Amino acid sequence: MKLKFYGTRGSIPICEQSFQKYGGNTTCIALCNAKNVYVFDSGTGIRNLGNEYFSNHNHSLTNVILFFSHFHWDHIQGFPFFLPAYDPSREFTIATIGRNDDYFDLKAIFENQMRKEFFPVPLEKMGAKFNFIQEETNLFKNDEVKIISSEHNHPGRAFSYRIAIEGKIIVFVTDVEHIDGIDPRVVAISKDADILIHEAQYTPEELVKHKGWGHSSWMQAIEVAKLANVKKLFITHHDPDHDDNFLDKIEVECKKHFLNVELAKDNLEVEL
Ligand SMILES: [Zn+2]
Ligand SMILES: [Zn+2]
Repeated sequence: MKLKFYGTRGSIPICEQSFQKYGGNTTCIALCNAKNVYVFDSGTGIRNLGNEYFSNHNHSLTNVILFFSHFHWDHIQGFPFFLPAYDPSREFTIATIGRNDDYFDLKAIFENQMRKEFFPVPLEKMGAKFNFIQEETNLFKNDEVKIISSEHNHPGRAFSYRIAIEGKIIVFVTDVEHIDGIDPRVVAISKDADILIHEAQYTPEELVKHKGWGHSSWMQAIEVAKLANVKKLFITHHDPDHDDNFLDKIEVECKKHFLNVELAKDNLEVEL
């Protein structure tokens, strides 16, 4: 089983030379085994996942299930460029769990994103078959995985995911603002995880000036990891103004407070 970070940049893709070490694609991570691919968010990183998946593997029997933390641009922007979605022989599941607003319509989000004013190909003309699952309960289960979601604080609502698969626990928490101390919901869903992926758009100093923007500092990500007894922490959703040198320095600071922490980079692979 492999965990791969296809996009680790927050807010907007970035392509300048001094950002190439960590990369400029927005959020997309994938958990792949022989049978299935579980994708979390379709920021611009999903383009590379699609190209890899399309060219390197004959995944005709593989299930691909896409989950979404939320639907801000940086988490859906790559979807129209996900090549396998144009293959009529393929089938994809797009799922949200635990999101139960009356007005929320998962399929409409993608139909709207691909309306002709925004993109030349409408959703129904892409080719692949899409199954939309909009579960009010916060649980998704099949014969190999159990995924639960938990809401956290972010403008427009956002959700963390806890994935239990092949004896491992992987937790994905992005676009979260901890208000009045660390959010206990985030600690609970991260409890005893083998891997916690937690966003940290800001430094502790920057966070003070960005109240209400919906994000965390690296120090808060470490606090969650400590409180939840997490084995390994990956920090992601790097601010588009933080270049490689800046992020290198943040990683050094992080390691002073938590031994097993790493700043995620685009294309980083973790064998599990
Ligand atoms: Zn974001
Ligand atoms: Zn967001």
